[in-house]
Amino acid sequence: MSDLRAWDNTELWHPFTPMTAWGEEQAPIIKSGEGFYLTDVDGRRYLDGISSLWCNVHGHRVPELDAAIRDQLDKVAHSTLLGLSSPPAIELAHELVQRTPNGLNHAFFSDAGATSVEAALKMVVQFHHQKAQPEPERRIFVRVAESYHGDTFGSVAVGRVEAFHRPFSGMLFETLTVPSPVAYRVPPGYDAASWLKHCFDQVESTIAEHRDRIAGFIMEPIVQGAAGIQVHTPGYLKHVREVTARHGVPLITDEVAVGFGKTGTMFACEQEQVVPDVLCLAKGITAGYLPLAATMVTSEIYDAFLGQPHEGRTFYHGHTYTGNPLAAAVSLVNLRLFDERNVLGNVAEITEQMKSRLSELNDHPHVGEVRQKGVMVGIELVINRDTKQPYGPEVRIGHEVTLAARRRGVIIRPLGNVIILMPAVAMPAAEIDELCDATIASIREVCGETALSAKNR
Ligand SMILES: *Cc1c(COP(=O)(O)O)cnc(C)c1O
Repeated sequence: MSDLRAWDNTELWHPFTPMTAWGEEQAPIIKSGEGFYLTDVDGRRYLDGISSLWCNVHGHRVPELDAAIRDQLDKVAHSTLLGLSSPPAIELAHELVQRTPNGLNHAFFSDAGATSVEAALKMVVQFHHQKAQPEPERRIFVRVAESYHGDTFGSVAVGRVEAFHRPFSGMLFETLTVPSPVAYRVPPGYDAASWLKHCFDQVESTIAEHRDRIAGFIMEPIVQGAAGIQVHTPGYLKHVREVTARHGVPLITDEVAVGFGKTGTMFACEQEQVVPDVLCLAKGITAGYLPLAATMVTSEIYDAFLGQPHEGRTFYHGHTYTGNPLAAAVSLVNLRLFDERNVLGNVAEITEQMKSRLSELNDHPHVGEVRQKGVMVGIELVINRDTKQPYGPEVRIGHEVTLAARRRGVIIRPLGNVIILMPAVAMPAAEIDELCDATIASIREVCGETALSAKNR
């Protein structure tokens, strides 16, 4: 075994990874990338079917993006936004204000999706202390069931996933949970229509009952990504905006997963003409090149932090690498390429292409549901289509399918029993076909064609 392999198995602790099993898996060690492909240290080439965890936009080693970083590197790699400023950060704030929905006039930078959410939560709480008619008792957030907002304590409090966060349950701040407006599995006593109505009603009743304690409502708009690409029933986001506005509850939309074209529009909120009070951005913001995030806010919120320094209205919050010039420089070129290359037009085309290709799975006995919005796809594997009985975790069915895809030279990654496809928004049709071919073949190989397959325990 090479030194790299040995050290990778013992010294590098991988995120979200059962490290005991890791050693046996011989996961590719990626050495280089080109276009939409990655190459490992053994020279094997793979199609990047998850856009390097949902953040790559135009492919790898894009000359314009590489040049943006090199040019900035010739000026300065990093300077701080505490007490100083920098042209790339200023210009990026301006670009984001122009491009995000009208009214989001201020950009606060950090470096990860989770930190964009932390900043949002703290801004909203502090806003209630400092607005014209203060309501400091408003400290509780409403969240949507099965949401994911990152892995820091605050973002876990509003987005916990039972399996990930059990040890921390007693340490998280209080939240109110409304059900997620999806109807693949509905609780006993409901059908799809009555369940969705219940989900809509719960927004109103929860907010009406607790309004005086509620700091804000946080949600992933249109699609809950980490929950397995759960696509909300149309109209839910608009409904939440209407109810929160009517009750004076700030709405935080976390577009870390759905932003930058993935649902078909630049930002998912545009799909229902919604303007949130706070918008969180990260993953696609630098085209998948460097860590950067932005929390966009309205002037109503921002203005509550204005005043003389000694009044103590400042937002005392920030991270060392906030607004890093290299990251901001590549982000600016990323946004320019969105226009120059008509990336949203490409999303429209490959969305239809994936829909038609993946319809081949519609009557597969172990495919419970194919969910899709734009380039975001979740294929839920089940033991039985009719009962929707899930595979047990010991089968690691999703993981087995991704190993089969890897043998075909395609990188995908499951979320439990859901196979996720997340091609870069700029991926061309030929690579989309390759991704769909490998996914369909791998599901057929691992799950079998019939309900009597060996994996069917
Ligand atoms: C990935 C994700 C996050 C966390 O982003 P990090 O950069 O990993 O901290 C937050 N919210 C959503 C919706 C995400 O998909």
